[in-house]
Amino acid sequence: MSRRRRIYEGKAKILYEGPEPGTLVQYFKDDATAFNAQKKGVISGKGVLNNSISEYLMTRLSEIGVPNHFIRRLSLREQLIHEVEIVPIEVVVRNIAAGSFSKRFGIAEGTPLPRSIVEFYYKSDELGDPMVTEEHITAFNWAHTQDLDDMVALALRVNDYLSGLFLGVGVKLVDFKLEFGRVYNEHGDVRIILADEISPDSARLWDVQTNEKLDKDRFRQDLGNVEGAYREIARRLGVLPEAEVTELRGSQQAAL
Ligand code: UDP
Repeated sequence: MSRRRRIYEGKAKILYEGPEPGTLVQYFKDDATAFNAQKKGVISGKGVLNNSISEYLMTRLSEIGVPNHFIRRLSLREQLIHEVEIVPIEVVVRNIAAGSFSKRFGIAEGTPLPRSIVEFYYKSDELGDPMVTEEHITAFNWAHTQDLDDMVALALRVNDYLSGLFLGVGVKLVDFKLEFGRVYNEHGDVRIILADEISPDSARLWDVQTNEKLDKDRFRQDLGNVEGAYREIARRLGVLPEAEVTELRGSQQAAL
């Protein structure tokens, strides 16, 4: 990958110049951060698992007409994506109270919400991603009302579809964060599409039977077996990468 020009390096991913104009290569790292990067660590194998999990979910979403940046997986840690102009807003959808929501409103973690709640956060490391409303977003020109309407409509479709998909493999979709980007066609028309990733780094996923956390909260809260949780999500979705399957077989045989 070092031959390609690096465009951007984030906390968990690197973006490289793509093979054709309008494309990028998204590389998934094992690095993990939490609490606005105050906590740092490495979750070994996470990049490979998230690449595969995000590929699977974005592909399923394309099939139901949710436009997104994913083109194809290139290798264990890399995927080819459409280059977008990122909207600097994180869209969070919540079905069950957890994390910062439980703290802010004093609602016990695990309490089902009366309906799905959509929130916006302004992407800014210096400010710690403050929660914002449509007023802030449009006043500061981070997005137009029409963009926001599209983002909310897409986020709710993603929520309905993924809630069902995960329930089918015994997992509750508690909450998740989405990012969107703008793409322009040859006539200069703009379209909003889903970008970034959908993985246990960006969603809370609990086992339906036991409420066991199968996501980044295991890292945030030092619950242990973080890799195992990510692997379990990939396994249930049927997308455990071949390298991981081989490794698992090896360790199972060794245990016999
Ligand atoms: N989230 C994320 N990136 C962020 C903040 C939140 O992916 O910068 C995800 C998080 O994993 C969870 C959801 O968005 O699935 C809601 O997170 P919350 O606001 O509760 O924040 P947290 O408790 O993670 O600080």
